[in-house]
Amino acid sequence: LPTAKSTSLSKNRRTELITKKEPTVRNIDKIESERIERRENQAKMRYQRDQIKAKHDINDAQWEFAEMIEDWRDENPSRPPHHKRMEHKINVCVRKRPLNKKETKNKETDVVTRSGDLLYVHQPMTKVDLTKYLENMPFRFDYVFDLEDDNRKVYEYTAKPLVESIFRGSRATCFAYGQTGSGKTHTMGGEFSGKNQNCSNGIYAFAAEDVFKKLRQPMYQHLKLTVSFFEIYANKVFDLLNGSQRLRILEDKQGKIRVVGLVDQVVETVDDVINVLREGSRCRTSGQTSANSNSSRSHAVFQLSLLTPGRKAHEERTHGMFSLIDLAGNERGADTMSSDRITRQEGADINKSLLALKECIRAMGKDALHVPFRGSTLTKVLRDSFIGEDSKTCMIATLSPGFSSCENTINTLRYADRVKGLSVNEKRDL
Ligand code: ADP
Ligand code: MG
Repeated sequence: LPTAKSTSLSKNRRTELITKKEPTVRNIDKIESERIERRENQAKMRYQRDQIKAKHDINDAQWEFAEMIEDWRDENPSRPPHHKRMEHKINVCVRKRPLNKKETKNKETDVVTRSGDLLYVHQPMTKVDLTKYLENMPFRFDYVFDLEDDNRKVYEYTAKPLVESIFRGSRATCFAYGQTGSGKTHTMGGEFSGKNQNCSNGIYAFAAEDVFKKLRQPMYQHLKLTVSFFEIYANKVFDLLNGSQRLRILEDKQGKIRVVGLVDQVVETVDDVINVLREGSRCRTSGQTSANSNSSRSHAVFQLSLLTPGRKAHEERTHGMFSLIDLAGNERGADTMSSDRITRQEGADINKSLLALKECIRAMGKDALHVPFRGSTLTKVLRDSFIGEDSKTCMIATLSPGFSSCENTINTLRYADRVKGLSVNEKRDL
């Protein structure tokens, strides 16, 4: 409204003007809404154009950076990793997978280098005057796994030391965190050959193997092992050992969280566990849980529970528990641009749960009195694992080393760095 004029009008006349909307007012409204629509369309087109451009430019832009990375590697010969196995409360490691077929076919440059327990990301940058340069960013972790390290090696330095602690009566967790396609399921569930997964050579199976070994010792023979396997999708829990049945979670008066009706299968041999893993993995990827069959949008939780038997079933007590988690893909930036409301919501839920997880682990590391586990379903079901005095956790951040994943790789490393939280001191000698 032309305010100078309207201030001289009586209040009644002004109200009348607004409610009736004179032609000029209507015109202004129309022009405004057209402008908004035009801007939205422009933004959409720009986004699509950038996407196409990014695809085509990648090879042209890359060779110069590839040469710079080669030069950097020549000048900074890689040091071998330290062979130390640490018993930290929080152990954070990174694993770099080899370039996959698609990345190799696209001649993508590998932008990640290990040296000792440091990992460098070579981020391609361009100055205002269009000269290209590299930003070589160092990150320090408890252990850095490179291409030659297999699942067994990764297991030995991450989850294996935690098996001890569940026999001492504690809770342990092991997370695989990273972008979709970076190797989380490969690391936790076992190697793939084509679409088939070998469930016997992942961290789930290795951990079960070691638990059985210990159970054979006389002092632990009274303990019983059960396993459960469930998925959290859109903050809802689905039982992977019971046809993806949806389960409720309940909090009792003592604040203990329980997943009601979760199948807790008694297992006697490693083969039993492998069968359970096969069943659960099949259930997860067949996508019965949701409209979206993409397992990258759910967290999978595999739990090994040691029980002290009582005279009756309800008198059984959990002695220790190891939760192994294949997290949802962390690349959720693109979701915010999605026109699909469900995709946007899923992305937001995943982001929220990963942030809640980070905060809970950090609180655990500081032995904080308050652990913000209510932030997501994931952290609720893992509540006990964050609060016990002797609770331990390890995180394996998985990386896709290709040029096109650089942004996601940096995000993954920053997250892992924050999880460790206490690494500030160690960083001094970088
Ligand atoms: P995510 O679960 O993170 O989405 P996957 O575990 O499904 O990723 O891995 C994607 C693909 O990359 C699979 O075909 C897998 O076999 C392969 N892959 C992942 N990590 C490795 C690795 N360390 N060595 C060889 N191949 C790998
Ligand atoms: Mg996966």
